[in-house]
Amino acid sequence: MSSDALSNPVAVHIVAALADRGIRLSVRRGMLAATRAQELTDEDRATLRQYKAAVMVLVLLGDARTRERLAARQAGRGLLEPAAAGHCHTCGERLPRRRPLGRCGWCALAARLEAGGPIPEDVLTLFDPAIVGPQPVTPEGLDLAVPA
Ligand SMILES: [Zn+2]
Repeated sequence: MSSDALSNPVAVHIVAALADRGIRLSVRRGMLAATRAQELTDEDRATLRQYKAAVMVLVLLGDARTRERLAARQAGRGLLEPAAAGHCHTCGERLPRRRPLGRCGWCALAARLEAGGPIPEDVLTLFDPAIVGPQPVTPEGLDLAVPA
């Protein structure tokens, strides 16, 4: 079962609270990374581990690639020609090898943002493993010592 990351109050709070403290999170190869990681408390780390999938979704929502696609959608811009197999049918970006058809994770997030719908944690399965790592997301992939 996948829950809505935007409706996870703990995940939403930790991302906002860290941003207020000047700590920026990013997602790489299924791991969360943080700037100023040395300022994270044990409680911060425990919360990030517990809610890792929801936090990853929230971080990816704020990524420039999601924002660019949302802006393109809102401006009515899209592909003029059908995408080739293995490419996102909305932006044309190459899809993860295991997904021959469909929409990339960035476009899926942008579409859900535009629609105002829930954003289930399993949206992570649409992303390339270079970003979200092998599925499913596990709490072990928390590499907060690496600056983002
Ligand atoms: Zn796309």
